[in-house]
Amino acid sequence: MTATMLAARLHDIGKPMVLEELPVPVPRPTDVVVNVKACNVVPNLKNVLATYAEWFPYLPLPELPAIFGLDAAGVISAVGSHVTDVKVGDRVYVNPGLSCGSCSACRRGEDQNCDSYTFMGYFAFGPNGQRQFDAYPYGGLAEYLTAPQRNLVKLPDAVTFEQGARFGYLGTAYSALRKAGAGPGRTVVIDGISGTLGLGACLIALGLGVSRILGTGRNAALLQDVKALAPDRIDVHAVGDGDLAAWVRDHNNGEGADIVIDAVGPGAPAESFTDALATLRRGGIAVDIGGMMERPALDLFSMMCSQISLVGSLWFSTSEAQDMAEMAGSGALDLSILEHHTFPLDQINEALDTGLPARHGGFTNFICQPS
Ligand SMILES: [Zn+2]
Repeated sequence: MTATMLAARLHDIGKPMVLEELPVPVPRPTDVVVNVKACNVVPNLKNVLATYAEWFPYLPLPELPAIFGLDAAGVISAVGSHVTDVKVGDRVYVNPGLSCGSCSACRRGEDQNCDSYTFMGYFAFGPNGQRQFDAYPYGGLAEYLTAPQRNLVKLPDAVTFEQGARFGYLGTAYSALRKAGAGPGRTVVIDGISGTLGLGACLIALGLGVSRILGTGRNAALLQDVKALAPDRIDVHAVGDGDLAAWVRDHNNGEGADIVIDAVGPGAPAESFTDALATLRRGGIAVDIGGMMERPALDLFSMMCSQISLVGSLWFSTSEAQDMAEMAGSGALDLSILEHHTFPLDQINEALDTGLPARHGGFTNFICQPS
């Protein structure tokens, strides 16, 4: 008899997910099956599901029915015949970023630049996404999922499944900070420091030894909670409370910042980015990870003269996520401040609808526990 598992599948746009029994998947030779212990319910999921038809045409969603759930952590329950470096019982985070493995970008090790790049359990970045969805149809909102062995991040014992399920947002910030050369002696401005992405950037910047972290946000009380994480290294600036560039220089020995991490979300005004960009010193680097939808007016002449770089950064590589996991395992990256709100899989519809408590900014981690 085939073993079955509980999964939440979306059959119809605008309708609740359907809880149903599906066969437990069997791994192909280079895949594993993961028993999902924690899956992040990302802030954007409800919006994506509600606007399925109007979603970006260049970011294809999976054909329905589909199992969603972007960031999953759990225990390996089965391995394919050609799996070598992990075994049943290993604790892992599954990097949901799927790539074709054979195009020129993939062969260079630049998976995120693959034309087929696809988030398992979420959406794709190109027209070939459905092939990836067909190959890996299980998101984290199910008791089991399949994943390629090369997408696994081994979790150190000190990292919980709930913390592991936050790795998508944390890893996005980690990759951005790495691309910008963040470390000791550098000053980082985080635009939107109290949100899910921004707070992750703050924690990782602390872990990477960044000397000064200057953050912006809208909620003054929340900003004080962020500053309290490391009062000697973090300063916070409420949006609308005077000129940001002048404030940064006031808090950075009269100099501009080395790095801007723009973590404000799609709905933020373009001025949020241009104000942050203006805080950079000559040679500074701005990295966007928030995905602002408004189009900022850029002064390319002054950016050229000051050698300002602007980088769009998507997600992270599995190797970056593994490095970050080790950072969390050693304690250099402190994830103990995350506040987990957990619920079982059979409450996913209520959770997406009205069941989630008020969010304490980026501190809150909404986690579904399928098993
Ligand atoms: Zn590829």
